[in-house]
Parts: sequence; C-alpha cells; structure tokens
Amino acid sequence: MTKYVYKFKEGNASMKNLLGGKGANLAEMTGLGLPVPRGFTITTEACNRYYDDNKTIAPEIEKEIFDTLAETESIVGKKLGDPADPYLVSVRSGARASMPGMMDTILNLGLNSEVVIGLAGLTNNERFAYDSYRRFITMFGDVVMEIPKSKFDKEFEAVKAVKGVKLDTELDAEDMKEVVKRFLKVYEDNKGEPFPQDPKIQLMEAIKAVFRSWNNDRAILYRRMNDIPGNWGTAVSVQEMVYGNMGETSGTGVAFTRNPATGEKKLYGEFLMNAQGEDVVAGIRTPQTIDQLREVMPEVYEQFAKIANTLETHYKDMQDMEFTIERGRLFMLQTRNGKRTAAAAMRVAVEMVEEGLNTKEDAIMKLDPKQLDALLHPTFDPAALKAASAITHGLPASPGAATGRIYFTADDAKTANELGEKVLLVRLETSPEDLAGMDAAQGILTGRGGMTSHAAVVARGMGKCCISGCSELIIKEEDKYFLTKDGRKFEEGDWISLDGSTGAVYEGRIATQEATLSGNFRKVMEWADEIRTMQVRTNADTVRDARVAFDLGAEGIGLCRTEHMFFETERIFAFRQMIVAKTEEQRRAALAKILPYQQKDFEGLFHAMKGFPVTIRLLDPPLHEFLPQTDEEIRDLARELNMDPEELKDFTISLHELNPMLGHRGCRLAVTYPEIAEMQTEAIINAAINVNKEGGPQVVPEIMVPLVCEVKELKFVKNIIVKTADAIIAKAGIKLAYKVGTMIEIPRAALTADEIAGEAEFFSFGTNDLTQMTYGLSRDDAGKILEAYYRTKIFENDPTAKLDTVGVGRLMRIAADGGRATRPDIHLGICGEHGGDPSSIEFCNSLGFTYVSCSPFRVPIARLAAAQAAVRQRK
Ligand code: ADP
Ligand code: MG
Ligand code: MG
Repeated sequence: MTKYVYKFKEGNASMKNLLGGKGANLAEMTGLGLPVPRGFTITTEACNRYYDDNKTIAPEIEKEIFDTLAETESIVGKKLGDPADPYLVSVRSGARASMPGMMDTILNLGLNSEVVIGLAGLTNNERFAYDSYRRFITMFGDVVMEIPKSKFDKEFEAVKAVKGVKLDTELDAEDMKEVVKRFLKVYEDNKGEPFPQDPKIQLMEAIKAVFRSWNNDRAILYRRMNDIPGNWGTAVSVQEMVYGNMGETSGTGVAFTRNPATGEKKLYGEFLMNAQGEDVVAGIRTPQTIDQLREVMPEVYEQFAKIANTLETHYKDMQDMEFTIERGRLFMLQTRNGKRTAAAAMRVAVEMVEEGLNTKEDAIMKLDPKQLDALLHPTFDPAALKAASAITHGLPASPGAATGRIYFTADDAKTANELGEKVLLVRLETSPEDLAGMDAAQGILTGRGGMTSHAAVVARGMGKCCISGCSELIIKEEDKYFLTKDGRKFEEGDWISLDGSTGAVYEGRIATQEATLSGNFRKVMEWADEIRTMQVRTNADTVRDARVAFDLGAEGIGLCRTEHMFFETERIFAFRQMIVAKTEEQRRAALAKILPYQQKDFEGLFHAMKGFPVTIRLLDPPLHEFLPQTDEEIRDLARELNMDPEELKDFTISLHELNPMLGHRGCRLAVTYPEIAEMQTEAIINAAINVNKEGGPQVVPEIMVPLVCEVKELKFVKNIIVKTADAIIAKAGIKLAYKVGTMIEIPRAALTADEIAGEAEFFSFGTNDLTQMTYGLSRDDAGKILEAYYRTKIFENDPTAKLDTVGVGRLMRIAADGGRATRPDIHLGICGEHGGDPSSIEFCNSLGFTYVSCSPFRVPIARLAAAQAAVRQRK
C-alpha cells in the first residue's frame, strides 16, 4: 500500500520528490535535532491522486491523515479543537523545487469561536488569541474560499482608523475582538454560510486548497518560466503552530547564512517582534536587521547563528531560513538553499570551494546557468550617472541598472512591453499576481517591503534590477502616478532609471554600459571548462558579435548567417540587382560587386576567432525578403536599377510565395542559381587564404549548406563548392583545409542522415526550423496559439525555446546515429536558439555532440550548462 503521510521524524532531505523541498528539509532539521515544531507531510503523490480522483481526497488518504494527526496529538498532549488545550497547526505548501510565494499557506488552523476563548485563557493573552483568530479567518477565507483578501484588509483598516492608529501592534484585545467580529461577518456575507467551526473540516478544506493552489495561474506561469513540470505536484506539511505574536518577547524573521545580494559571508536577514508568518516579507512594519537581534535577545541570536552555521555546513550551500521566537524560545520553520544574485552566486561558489566546503564539481552543479544572464547585463555609464540627480532612495534589493517608462499595474507594464517599450513596474508592493508584469519590466520599484519582500526575492531570481521600500514616494497605483518628497509628479509613461545596486532612483533615461566580469566569474568559468567535454561556439554574423563571443569564451563560430551581411545600404543595391537579374551574366556582374564585401567580412570573422573553426552558411532566406515592398520603394529602386517600375513590380509579385518558409530558400537557391554558391565559396576561400598567409593561427573554414532534405541536393551544391574552392587553392599554389557540411533542419534530412553523411563532413542541427517543421507550427505565428495551449495544458513550454526531446529529439537521435554509422568521425553541433538553453544543452551532450552554438551573451551559460551535463552524464 502506498504511504501518503510521513511524520517529520520519518523523512529526510533526500525525499524532496515525495515530501517537497519544505517537507523534506523540515524532516532533515528534525533529524539534526534542531528545534522544529512537530508535524507531518502529505506527499506530492497524494496531490497527484487528488487530481486523478477528480479533485477529491480518497478516504484511505483522509484516514491516514487523521491517524497521523492523532499520533502527533498524543505526543504533543494537545488536541485539535479542544478549547481546554488546543492544538493549532499551519498547513503549508511545498513543491520539489522552491516556488516562493506561488502557492498558499494557512496559519492558526483549529481556531473557532470557542477555542479562541480557551486559547486566551490558557495563555493569559486575549490579544494574542484574537490576533491569531483574525489571521486565520483571513487566510482561510482568502486561500480556501477565495474571498478577496482586500475585503478583510478594508475592515482591518477601518478598525485602525476608528482607533486612530497606524500599526497592527497598536490594536489591543478589544480591538482584535472587533476585528474578528467584522471578519466573521465578511466571511458569512461572501459565502452565505458561517465560518466553519469544525477543525477537521477546516483541515481537510485547507489541504485541498493547497493542492488546488498547485494549479493557480501564477504557479503555472512560474513553472513555465523555471522549467518545472506540471506533474510534480505539491506536498502539504501540517505543523504545530508556534507563536511570534505573543508579545514583545516573541517575533518572527527570515535570514540567509550569507548576503544574497553580494555573497559576503555574514548572517543577513530581518525580523519583526510581535509578528507572525508573512508579516516580515509583506512589509506591514519596517523590520529590524538580524544584527539588531543580537542586542534585543543575545542568547536567541547566538543560538540562531549556531544553527545557521550547522545548516550551511550540513547542506554545503547558503541557506535561507525562517524562524519564530515564542516568548524567548527559538523555533526553526524552514530552511532551503537561498536564492541569490548572480554575483553572489559566483562569490559563494568560489569561497565555498576555498573554504573546503565544496569541490569544484559541487560548486559547478549548484549554479543555475540561466542566472549568468544577470552578470552580463548592463550597469549605468558612470559619467552619465554623475550628471543624474536622484529623486529618492530605496533598498538595493536586486542589482543592475534599468531605465524605462513607468507603469503602475502588471497588466499595463506587460501591454506596453508587448508594444515594444522598455518599462519599469512601480507598485506599492508586489504580490505573485504581478509576476507577468515583473517579467515584462526592465526593473521593479516598490514603495513598501524589505530586502526579503516578494518583489526583492522574485526580482533576484529573475536577475532583474529591483529597488524596494521607497517609502518616501507617495505611490497612487490607481491614479497611475507617484509624488516625490518635494512634491514632483511622475506619471504613467514617464522615464526614470533605477540602480538596483545602490537603491537610487533617478529622473529620466541614463545611458547604460556593458557588464564587466568579476574574478569569481572567470574562476567559475575556468572550472566549467575543465569539466565539460562539449565545445561551445557562437552564432555570429558580425565582427563585433564575434569579438564579444570570443571574450566570453566561444571556441569558434557555429553559425554565420551570411544574409545578415547584405542589409547594409551599399550592399543591398548590388544584392537587389542580383535578384532582379534576367540573365546569368547580369547576375554574375552583380555578384562580383558583392564578393569583395563578403570576403572582407569573412576575413574579419576569421581574425576575431583566432584559429578556431568558423562555420559559414550559404545564403538561406527567401529572396523576396530583400526586395522593396511599397510602391514608393519599388519606384525608387526601379530608378536606381534603371528599370521600368511596372516591370519591377511585376517581378516582385512573381517572387511572392504562399509559403515562403517552405519555398525558394536554403540550398534551393544554390540549385537554381549556382553562381551564388560559387561567389560565396570564392569569398570564403579567398578570405581564409589571406588570413592564413599572415602566418597567425590557421583557420579551417567550414562551409555549410542549409535546408538540405535529400543527399543528391547536397551533392549538387557540394560539387559547386569543391570545384570553386579547389580551383582557387590550386591557383594560389598553397594548402588549405576546408570542410563541407550541412544543416539538419528538415525532418527528411534527419531520417536520411546516413545517406547525407556520405557527402557531409559535419551536421549542424538547425533546431529552429527542425522544430517548426516537426511540429508543423510556424514559429512566427506560434505566440497566439501557444497561449491557448498553455491554458489548456496541452503544452507546458514553448518548443521553440525549450527543445522537445521527445519528438524533435528523436529525429536528432536518428540523425546522429545515422550520421555516425556512415562517417564515424562526423562532427555534430547545434546552432538553433536551443543551443543556449541549459536543458537542451544537456540533451545534446547525451547525444555525444561535438559542440553547441549560441548567441554571444549565452556563451557563458552554455559553458556552465555543458559542464553540468558532463558531470550528470558521468554519474
Ligand atoms: P512560503 O512557502 O510562502 O514561505 P510557508 O509555508 O513557509 O510559506 O509559511 C508562511 C509563513 O508562515 C512563514 O513565515 C512561516 O515561517 C510561517 N509559518 C508556517 N508554519 C508555521 C508554524 N507552524 N508556526 C509559526 N509560523 C509558521
Ligand atoms: Mg516559507
Ligand atoms: Mg534554418
């Protein structure tokens, strides 16, 4: 029989899949003998059963829950619902991967109008009892019954207003009773029935609500952004309550073993006295720093610091911990590997190896490749910054520089961003509902909340600049403006700039500059290079891109798209002349004009890559992309080309294809106009000869034929290439090695790869086209369709961003096997967008690829991901 419920004593940290991260770590901390309130965890399998059983909890699981509860009750010596000595619990969500704030937690469960009186008497603290009850009613109402939290907040504010106070701590027992009375009414008004008094019903409803929260919109979005599968499910932990809201010797807080913004090895965190649960992160009052705890409660501080150290040493990673102090007694409520900025991640990785806590491999495995993005992002240009004046300061919650137009709701920010604007999201505080807006924004500014507020934590995870707690600003979300201290007004659409590293907010746009990479980053990259077995190349069409990529560690160019070289004004004319040429002679004349440009470009790329291989793809896109579209443009071009405008127009129309992606493009261009392939080969070979003549590192150019679906097609084009190249080489009287290979981007090419490998010396998987053609889904039109597919859970990911290892992957495997069967030493690479995606990189590694190729700024990500893939494969 499947076991669905585990007491904390029965679990450990390795059981994350079953118990969720939170449940597994609570169990582990219990095992370490740390002060953890008792409890048990209902497994992720129970969550999946809940969905399989049509959103019900099967009787045998319910029985297991209540049996375990009874056992816990007898150990604790208290009973759920017993007014004489009530057992109260929290019901906490927790998936395998940490999803901060995405799902729901309910505290103080077990209270009702009778138990609250008992609790007040027992603790001799009426205020505390009613404060706990009002919190429970809100959480139960909000999370379980979907009554908007704002309805409770409104009543709470009203009671504070009547009393003439600002803070929750200024309300006394009688006020809290009044709050409870009003909350019970809100509940009944909204649900048409009284607040449930039976704690067992409360418990089962709460558990179901946590299961349901696995599939709320923000959790689904978070999973998509973080590559978390929908079938993992969440676990539910039921834990005895401890109370941080019992007065001035009680409190609650969160802390990291190291600074999550910089990585500095120093306890870092915040706490609030007389507070419970989310109070610290929700920003209801301004928290104190963990250093201040040393003064307020020295013994508790010492104990906490010791535990923090124990946990970090035990997990060999920086920990993010939640704790509560109940009347001077410390309890640990959570620990997990802490989210950190990319810069902090590098520093922690390096220092933990230096401290002997981790091996290089451990350190590499603990990094998140995607996070490197943030390191490669811009900061403000110092000169421009000097000239700028700050309008206010907040907390430097997540570093980086951002400039954009301000928007006051997530929706507005998202819409503006979709229209191509750079936006900044300004909110009083953010909640998980704001996720899409935060994602769309360059940076985030909030009026309230500390360094561990939702905005801060989420922004750091996204590698996005964030300033929180700008308390000087008067932010009017509904009226879409904010006022500075000196009364200046900034409205929706105005430009401001944020420095997430200092917390300064500036008026207007400030120029940014590229990131400089730290010594820690270089060290981590060196380690990654020692470990990985796959090469990392870049996709680059310009010398500038190639240099950036080389500096970021690229070991060659995996894809140079030659068509991108034609768009410059002087060249496009010759290129258009080539397209509209009526005879081969005219076409050759036009090509002759283009040749020197191409040759120079290739020389630049060869120089930039200093002897590393450079793969150049022959002309690929449909020709009409290069022709003028409007009548006016056609008239102008006709004049330039000395042509009749009508004739040019007719010709343009004749080039039009119903389905250009499947039309006259790729190697089909070389088949119809061999002289194009000839010219390009000539440019490549001449460039290589010239560069090699200089005596520096010798380049071996790789000429790549796109969109091949049939070996005879490749053979035809290869003949042109080889004839042209060999003639030039013979004439120059020197030696030059070069390779001819092909893209695998049409399913038929993958299926007949064994034949194609007879002609191709290398394969480069063009997974953009391969995905598009395997799915039969146009990548330019997929957006709208995918929205519906996410909603209906048919797709969890965009296959053009994350490689589909099932279908497209099967074709890749067939092609890799086929290629190697014919030509055992064939080079295999990937040059689609997927080349920079960590999970896709891992797949390529498993197929034994020679290299992945990605855009320049993704090169470090790919180096790290390739190292991780190598370690995983060895295991
Ligand atoms: P999240 O995953 O959103 O952090 P948690 O389950 O950790 O949600 O709980 C939310 C808050 O409630 C945290 O601050 C946590 O410390 C607090 N909390 C949870 N369980 C208890 C408990 N048994 N006693 C006291 N506080 C608790
Ligand atoms: Mg938590
Ligand atoms: Mg292609």
